[in-house]
Amino acid sequence: MVSAMEDLSKFEQEIFQRISKNEVSELKTLLAQEKIKMDFIDENGMNPLQHACYKGNKEIVQLLLDHDADVNACLHEHAYTALHFAALSGNAELCHLLMSYGACLTAQNSVGRTAAQMAAFVGNHNCVATINNFIPKADIDYYIKPQGLQTEPMLPPYLADYFHKFIIQINVNPVRVCMNLQKLPALLENAAKIQKVLESMRNREMTRGVEINEIMAFKYHYLSCVVAEVLKCQKRQEAMKAEKVEKWCNRSNEKKPDTVEFLIRRFLKCNKTDSLPEYQEAFLKDSVREFPFRESTIFRQIVATLASTDPPSTVSVISAAINGQRGFFDGVHTCVTCGEDKATKKCSKCKAVQYCDRECQRLHWFMHKKACARLGQSSANN
Ligand SMILES: [Zn+2]
Ligand SMILES: [Zn+2]
Repeated sequence: MVSAMEDLSKFEQEIFQRISKNEVSELKTLLAQEKIKMDFIDENGMNPLQHACYKGNKEIVQLLLDHDADVNACLHEHAYTALHFAALSGNAELCHLLMSYGACLTAQNSVGRTAAQMAAFVGNHNCVATINNFIPKADIDYYIKPQGLQTEPMLPPYLADYFHKFIIQINVNPVRVCMNLQKLPALLENAAKIQKVLESMRNREMTRGVEINEIMAFKYHYLSCVVAEVLKCQKRQEAMKAEKVEKWCNRSNEKKPDTVEFLIRRFLKCNKTDSLPEYQEAFLKDSVREFPFRESTIFRQIVATLASTDPPSTVSVISAAINGQRGFFDGVHTCVTCGEDKATKKCSKCKAVQYCDRECQRLHWFMHKKACARLGQSSANN
């Protein structure tokens, strides 16, 4: 092991240079020339991976990981790990990549701060949420094998990847959760199984002894409530369909109503202008009430906030409980349909509301069409 730049070989120095200039293809060529260990460090104790994370360059980090860079190697003078640097860079996808390679989430730097705490300190809320929402694949593997007296696993193995993708989502707005389900039809077809697994994960999370993660337990509970709601809708629609079949047995080519979209509309519907969507509010409050661990800090916190005078929307309370409090500037570019953060598309008619994309705009149009003309006028007058 070497400790100063002068002691490094020309080759090693060049690797550091390419990384600091974000030169991906040059670095790729370089690494193809000679196979060396990625454990050399500069005068601050930083290895190539830590440098690439400091630059927030996901492509280079992937390249180094492909060359067997150790994700947790740390000789940095202030004990910043690769994940600390990634969290500081503000690149949430990079944080996710490191965690999927086994980066330790609880490693502390020399002042006792974890990567998530450092990200919060500099206002990188997406990194905080990404780290706090990370679930190792191994947690799911438990469910794809039969346990104890089970004859089959609770989760069909082919669903493991979809399910993992579904539960690590950061945006917990019920509309977005439904949209995510819609994009994963295999999960939707197995909604009853998914719901059982989520409940079991909630209970397991609360019985981990010293490592109890109340936030995760609540998140699993909340997702299980959304899936249960989808199931309820599926059953109701099947019953309605059966009734219709009896009445009009000949009209077989009638368009099949999309269950999830039906539920999304319910979640979005407001009966009064400028009020909160009633059905969504009631659903979310019920979900909170059904959380079985009433002694937990997270449950008490949510209930106390909701009981305060003039409380914020329930979706924002749940979101803050799971993902942490956000800065005052948040909400400026929020999608009115699904609550996603970086909604950049505006309604072209009134320019008063923002959406992620056409799909979000389409889903919201049945509500927005009444307000669009009015909002257009008031924004033109300003
Ligand atoms: Zn959206
Ligand atoms: Zn509009």
